[in-house]
Amino acid sequence: MLSISQIVRRALVMQLAVPAFNVPYLPMIEPVIQAVIDQDSFALVEVARLEWRKFESQSLAAVATEFYRHNQPEYVRLHLDHVPVIDEDNLRVDFMPIFEEALGLGYESVMIDGSRLPLAENIQVTRQVVELAHEAGCPVEAELGAIMGHEAAPLLSYEELFTTGRGFTNVEEARLFVQETGCDWLSVAIGNIHGAIAAGRKDQKKIEARLNIERLDQLSRASQIPLVLHGGSGIQQAALMESTRHGIAKINVATEIRQPYETALKDTGSIPQAQQAVYDRTIWILQAFLGIAGKREKILSTGPVPL
Ligand SMILES: [Zn+2]
Repeated sequence: MLSISQIVRRALVMQLAVPAFNVPYLPMIEPVIQAVIDQDSFALVEVARLEWRKFESQSLAAVATEFYRHNQPEYVRLHLDHVPVIDEDNLRVDFMPIFEEALGLGYESVMIDGSRLPLAENIQVTRQVVELAHEAGCPVEAELGAIMGHEAAPLLSYEELFTTGRGFTNVEEARLFVQETGCDWLSVAIGNIHGAIAAGRKDQKKIEARLNIERLDQLSRASQIPLVLHGGSGIQQAALMESTRHGIAKINVATEIRQPYETALKDTGSIPQAQQAVYDRTIWILQAFLGIAGKREKILSTGPVPL
């Protein structure tokens, strides 16, 4: 069986993205997995620290238990998303015990987010996590640049963000960062933004984001590793497709499946109905939005990687 590291590498070469679906509510896990299987796709199920603290996925262990009840490793794997060093409330996080726990629970890849730190410190904490995770054979995603959206305070206007390129990942820093940390995948900021999570704003429709493909291309050549696009929900579809031809191999999807779950649960009070809404939306993402239905064989075939 291919490791997740090999699979994401293959996705990069094949110019196909591996979607990673965030699960802020435990009942979302089953319909996501079912949709991936039914569409003969491959995906990651992932949970971020803020989703077990501020939403209802409870804990790393609860997510792992629910995931492994439905797991089919030829279709899905379990990833630990954003463990920030400085969190969305600007508090320092004791991150190492979280990674130790995740590795023990069978998470197959993890993300350390030192993006709110100065470069040298981001390098230092990322390297620390890489050492721990690699010893367990687990690849590490890191983040460089500022992907806005999780902060409680309102964003500067999206237009301003995009035209000034404020917070975009710097190419020379990316080169240095990957060399110094040995991280496996890099989350970059190229116009993508996270969905709002703050009360009062988390139900709003996400802004349609654009991507700076030229910057992405430079980042891909400088870093030489698979790149990750956070904030996949609400990105213009053409830009999304283009990004997979310029180095993006993993696309995180959160808002796009969270909001249907919350809306259906609010309207019907029924968890099965809310699960159905997640299933339907995931099918749409795999088929229409990402165009990867039926592409599992292409990513998972064990033939030589044309690198
Ligand atoms: Zn993210």
